[in-house]
Amino acid sequence: MTEALVAELRDALGPRGWLDPADAGSVLTGWRKAYSGTPVLVARPDTVEAVRAVVRACADHAAAVVTQGGNTGLSGGSVPIDDLPDGRPSVLLLTTRLNRIESVDSDRFTATVQAGCTIEQVQQAAAAVDRQLAMDWGARGTATVGGAIATNAGGLNVLRYGNTRRHVLGVEAVLADGRVFDGLRALRKDNTGYDLKQLFIGAEGTLGVVTRAVLELEPALAHHRTLFAALTGLDRVTDLYGLARSIDVGGLVAFELVPEMGVAAAVDVLGITRPIDTRAEWYLMARFSGSEPVTDTVTRFLSAAADRGWVADAVVAETAAQEANLWLLRDELPPGTLIDSKGAKFDAAVPIDRIPEFQRGVEAVAARVCGPEAVVFSFGHLGDGNLHVYVLPSLEHGGRLAPDLVAAVTAEVDGLIWDLGGTISAEHGIGQDLLGRLTGQKSQVEFDLLRAVKAALDPTDLFNPGKGAQAIAHSTRLD
Ligand SMILES: Cc1cc2nc3c(=O)[nH]c(=O)nc-3n(C[C@H](O)[C@H](O)[C@H](O)COP(=O)(O)OP(=O)(O)OC[C@H]3O[C@@H](n4cnc5c(N)ncnc54)[C@H](O)[C@@H]3O)c2cc1C
Repeated sequence: MTEALVAELRDALGPRGWLDPADAGSVLTGWRKAYSGTPVLVARPDTVEAVRAVVRACADHAAAVVTQGGNTGLSGGSVPIDDLPDGRPSVLLLTTRLNRIESVDSDRFTATVQAGCTIEQVQQAAAAVDRQLAMDWGARGTATVGGAIATNAGGLNVLRYGNTRRHVLGVEAVLADGRVFDGLRALRKDNTGYDLKQLFIGAEGTLGVVTRAVLELEPALAHHRTLFAALTGLDRVTDLYGLARSIDVGGLVAFELVPEMGVAAAVDVLGITRPIDTRAEWYLMARFSGSEPVTDTVTRFLSAAADRGWVADAVVAETAAQEANLWLLRDELPPGTLIDSKGAKFDAAVPIDRIPEFQRGVEAVAARVCGPEAVVFSFGHLGDGNLHVYVLPSLEHGGRLAPDLVAAVTAEVDGLIWDLGGTISAEHGIGQDLLGRLTGQKSQVEFDLLRAVKAALDPTDLFNPGKGAQAIAHSTRLD
């Protein structure tokens, strides 16, 4: 069966349309190197028709389809699982050749793009017609539109512009039966029934292969300023946030938390310039933008924050190079690139006023479960209440938290997140990583609905089996 499938696909895709897994290299392993899998073939279709051929052949031969864009996902969703319970083989479908920007319409503020376009590619195409794609995060040069849609990616500008769902006006996807769902209407309003395109946003490739999208563009803003401020502590971040949002309504774009341990590592390992001499445990990196100059806004914000004792010192980037240095520092914060130390990882969101309590709670769990050397490395999208938190055995290179300690910390911190009214996956999805942790967050009703949606669109579990929230719904009854 497998040989017949491989032969059929090679024939249908042509010599440039597939790779032997032995030659496929890094696409078989996820970004964090936590998951790997070997498909029977790596398919590289460059047309929607070729995607359909792959899907149909896999359905006929009872093989799974795992779709991969830039492979920057952080939850293990983009690589095959080798030992699927039913022993099925997988085909890894790369969208990287579906990389054409089909149109950019400055009048309509839209771009129609193929799913394998990178975020940066669309950003540049929008900028060329004086528009902006507001979707943005550190992996912009590699992450694709299809991957962003499948993970409902968030990023740096969610506070002002919303997550990926908010930017998608239309989706085209290949379904399990090989038909094409054409939801590419570039309309901001269409109340003709269920909004089916929404099903594919955040579905982690479990309902179909997204092949094209219409993305909403924003006006390009001529003026922006980035500030970096040493905080006197975490306790007043909610007040600081309220001040920043109300001082120039709509002007605040990003409001990010940066820890001193991240600054120290970025300076040490990457040679990034330390933004200010004043040392603090926590820093705020924020960006204001507008169609008019925002310098006055930034000055008023910082003076008010300093007067109230929330900020000890601050710098505002004066040149493009200084601003680039600040955002490079932010992009490079995930400790995987800075510190070779591994432990428990969280992509948590809690209401913003619970952030200080959350951080203190994780520190208490880490010290109690892992000992006094343990470190809680937190950073991220403070304005969204979304912190990326790593509990590490120490800041020493080569540190590894024992698996039983990872499990114990994870269970306690997940419980803390739920107690605070939060979620254990703010923007990275479920993939394979969070499967065993979902039952504490969702009710039986939610699992039943997830299962029903999956069964309606993909009754044979063709797409990305063993991943995503509905995978647990297949096997779990909570009562
Ligand atoms: C340095 C760095 C910074 C990051 N920062 C952020 C951040 O701030 N916010 C954030 O949300 N994420 C962030 N991420 C995570 C990642 O970039 C996003 O999840 C991104 O959306 C993944 O896109 P991708 O093309 O790499 O998808 P992949 O990793 O290839 O796939 C991710 C999931 O999407 C599915 N998929 C991919 N393409 C398609 C398609 N065409 N149709 C159907 N399913 C598909 C895959 O099957 C998989 O389940 C970061 C990652 C890195 C490495």
